[in-house]
Amino acid sequence: MAQLLLKGHPIGAIDGVLFDKDGTLSLSEPHLLNLAEQRIKAALELWSATRGTPAKDLRRILSRAFGLENGALHPGGTLAVAARQDNLTSTATVFCLMGCSWPEGLALAERCFNDVDQQRTERPKPSPLMEDAASMLRKLHAGGVQLAVISNDTRQGIQDFLDHHSLSNLFSSCWSAEDLPRKPDPQAVHHLCRRLNLAPEHCALIGDAETDLTMAHQAGIGCVIGYRGGWTLPPVLPTAAHQLNSWGDLDLVANP
Ligand SMILES: [Mg+2]
Repeated sequence: MAQLLLKGHPIGAIDGVLFDKDGTLSLSEPHLLNLAEQRIKAALELWSATRGTPAKDLRRILSRAFGLENGALHPGGTLAVAARQDNLTSTATVFCLMGCSWPEGLALAERCFNDVDQQRTERPKPSPLMEDAASMLRKLHAGGVQLAVISNDTRQGIQDFLDHHSLSNLFSSCWSAEDLPRKPDPQAVHHLCRRLNLAPEHCALIGDAETDLTMAHQAGIGCVIGYRGGWTLPPVLPTAAHQLNSWGDLDLVANP
């Protein structure tokens, strides 16, 4: 076992750490802001082309629906947290607020999302790694701590991210969107811990969303850490046992 230190203070003896990816290890906000802008632009163009009337207020209402605030993304907002299908339903609802029927709104939202997906056909480049994350991961690995990713990205998306940042050799396992049940089901944590051959109470879980942290508590994770450093507007994480603002604040003492 190794002792995790937060700003030099011991916070738990652990054998493994489960990491969320997006917004925790991966700086996701720039990519999501770009996606939001592309979807809004496509929605405005579709509205003008199909309704023949100016899209008054459409940009403002869609921005709010996606969780855009003064050029930043709300870390608990629809685009940051929810799945594509949930964002599509929100967009259809916005079209209804603009005067569409539900079938019309849904059809417009589907065209809008599909148009943007077609423009982004080439495989997206992995997002940047958070500052100081690489040295922290190497330190944990060197201290004998097993590392795993638990994410709702695809297995390929997780692998591409780790390969791109030369981190694959540090990680023992991952739990992706293809592994069932997906997070935030606490069983996802149990299955991943079983793959690692570790008890949940001897693991830490680090994530940037309340859903991750609630899942960790329900699964009996020993050390539940909220990471707040990945967003312009830091997420509010009341269920975090410990709050981490920078990867440089996390350290390890091996075999206490
Ligand atoms: Mg996340």
